[in-house]
Amino acid sequence: MGLRNGDFRDKTLVTSGRTVLHRLLGGPQALALLPALALGAYWTAGETGLVVVALGIPLLVLLVGDIDPPLAGITGPIDMVTGLPLADTIEERLEIALTQAQTRGLKTGCLLLRIEDFATFIDRQGATAGDQVLEKCAALLRGALRDGDHLAWMGQGTFGVAFKAVPNLDLEVAIQLSSRLQTTLEEPIALAGGTVYLSAGIGFCLSTRSPEKTGRGMIKGAQIALDEALRAGPSAIRVYSQEMGHVRESRETLRDDALMALENGEIAPWFQPQISTDTGRVTGFEALARWIHPQRGIVPPGEFLPFLERADQMERLGEIILYGALKAVTAWDSAEVTVPCVAVNFTGKELRNPKLADKIGWDLDRFDLTADRLTIEVLETVVIGSPEDTAARNITALAAMGCRIDLDDFGTGYASISAIRRFAIERIKIDRSFITHVDQDPEQQRMVSAILSMADRLGLETLAEGVETAGEHAMLAQLGCRHVQGFGIARPMPFDQTIDWITRHEAKLAQAPSIGRKSG
Ligand code: C2E
Ligand code: CA
Ligand code: CA
Repeated sequence: MGLRNGDFRDKTLVTSGRTVLHRLLGGPQALALLPALALGAYWTAGETGLVVVALGIPLLVLLVGDIDPPLAGITGPIDMVTGLPLADTIEERLEIALTQAQTRGLKTGCLLLRIEDFATFIDRQGATAGDQVLEKCAALLRGALRDGDHLAWMGQGTFGVAFKAVPNLDLEVAIQLSSRLQTTLEEPIALAGGTVYLSAGIGFCLSTRSPEKTGRGMIKGAQIALDEALRAGPSAIRVYSQEMGHVRESRETLRDDALMALENGEIAPWFQPQISTDTGRVTGFEALARWIHPQRGIVPPGEFLPFLERADQMERLGEIILYGALKAVTAWDSAEVTVPCVAVNFTGKELRNPKLADKIGWDLDRFDLTADRLTIEVLETVVIGSPEDTAARNITALAAMGCRIDLDDFGTGYASISAIRRFAIERIKIDRSFITHVDQDPEQQRMVSAILSMADRLGLETLAEGVETAGEHAMLAQLGCRHVQGFGIARPMPFDQTIDWITRHEAKLAQAPSIGRKSG
């Protein structure tokens, strides 16, 4: 999640006097300095000076030596927004706590807490609201921690805690501590513009389970646990274990392989049919990326898209899928099977490429296809953006060229009706979450009916996603949804199987009456 530039914003040096004294007097240098200081005092102030230094310095050493360094306050730059010390102080504090833990038979731990979807929050509410939230979060977390626990700002919407060494920091306590901090942060936060509800993922690493017995090792463990929590989220808590480390290693191999796979041609589109509830005929196919891994078999996009996204390779993936999809359309035409169009998914990032509409135009020309053979699937989140931005201009230009525009995962985001209008959306794809059990659950039926009547009034086409059973299919037809797609019709398949599938499907249609809309 990208928070914004300048996570480590303007820094102020705050150095406590106690810490300076601790550094000066807390080590062997104090002993080395003592004779020189005594001599200097004798020359300048005579015997009185000698007595003051001879008695005063050992007394100060005793006093300062008694202050536990982890409690000695902030020792470095602080973040201006949260007022907290920065990430590097966590490692330092953990080192100290680990030494204490080892010498005194105690335990410590490192916790990382990340505010989920914080980048989206900033996109929507602005940086000022973001800063206010962070400031409040820092105060809330500080209030929930004990004296001696060290809280720091890690950047990227993340806070870190180095716990002071204590006798009883075991798995149960770690989970209790984590859920206490999580609950604190998930209470409604009042801002000038309204109330904010946050969710937070937490990763914890106990000194007794750390991958390495160092501060850095504990942070690494907590980061691995946090990544797991964010994957499982929202509001998940994970404590680092060795198995997590192994899973991470195999994921890292997958990441490296994914980048190569893109260039090796191992990633290609598979196709899932969309059919009309009126006629039962195929009205299109959605192209869905699949990685055919030589050892692992078929890897779904959920497992490799995040790597490509982080490696900034989504555009390359988009080109490969678009090319494969348009090639499929020409092949269907040559085989004389009727497939009116193919749908391709585009991310917000791809849609913000100012050259996208031109590129797609050239690709269509290259395959000698008219623009109406291509459907552009955009997510609701993209449509929320301003009408002046590049994504909006691209979508409008593509619609003007004749491409169809589908609004994907409809109902999961916040697209306004005016945005739907502005973006020339032709069809909404009702998210699977509304479709599951629509034939049995009256609440689902009410939701789908409401969406369908809204679409009808706005003159939008409708498609239901994730239709898994004949019962759901029949109910959707009856409610008036125009198109369906899902495992109940067919799972995504490689191109080679599509022509056979269409032929069999059409043969079935010719034999049996299709599920049609009931009249009345
Ligand atoms: P999506 O665009 O919402 O695609 C629909 C997903 O639902 C697909 O998952 C599909 O296999 C799955 N699905 C279809 N019917 C059913 C059903 O009846 N039941 C259930 N449980 N699932 C069903 P898939 O292929 O794993 O893709 C996941 C997501 O990855 C897609 O969600 C899309 O957001 C993204 N994606 C896939 N291919 C591409 C691509 O080429 N480019 C981009 N940008 N994103 C892609
Ligand atoms: Ca889609
Ligand atoms: Ca979808």
